[in-house]
Amino acid sequence: MSEFFDRLSEALTSTGKNVGDKAKAKSDEVKLLYKVGTEKKALDIIFTELGKAYYEEYKEAPSEELAALVSEATIKSTEIAALEDQIRTIKGVYVCPNCGADIPLEYDFCGKCGTKVERPAPPAEETAEEEVQIKVEVDPDSADSTEE
Ligand SMILES: [Zn+2]
Repeated sequence: MSEFFDRLSEALTSTGKNVGDKAKAKSDEVKLLYKVGTEKKALDIIFTELGKAYYEEYKEAPSEELAALVSEATIKSTEIAALEDQIRTIKGVYVCPNCGADIPLEYDFCGKCGTKVERPAPPAEETAEEEVQIKVEVDPDSADSTEE
């Protein structure tokens, strides 16, 4: 009988140990997965910086393999700049050529770096300006190019 209890006790102990090992393995796995996730994020940041550095260095003459990506980056940069211009127009500010800070249209100096700046022409009547530009582009001598 005691032999039976010994075996039972042994079986329970080893089962418990097994469960404990599995739980520990699971917890180690979770910890390692978390670490892998953290390291991947860090690596992504490094790759991003690497890509930016490459772009700045080689955007004028990228390697053949990377030309398409460089071109995409240029297109996106241009689109972003245009959108930021629209935001500045809405906010009524222009950008400091020295530090890049926003400057209200009525100011002659940058509030951040103190640079005196040449203010752009006031956008009082923007739509009118655009119409003028369109009219300038149209050759007044050619009758077929007149609209309406
Ligand atoms: Zn400034």
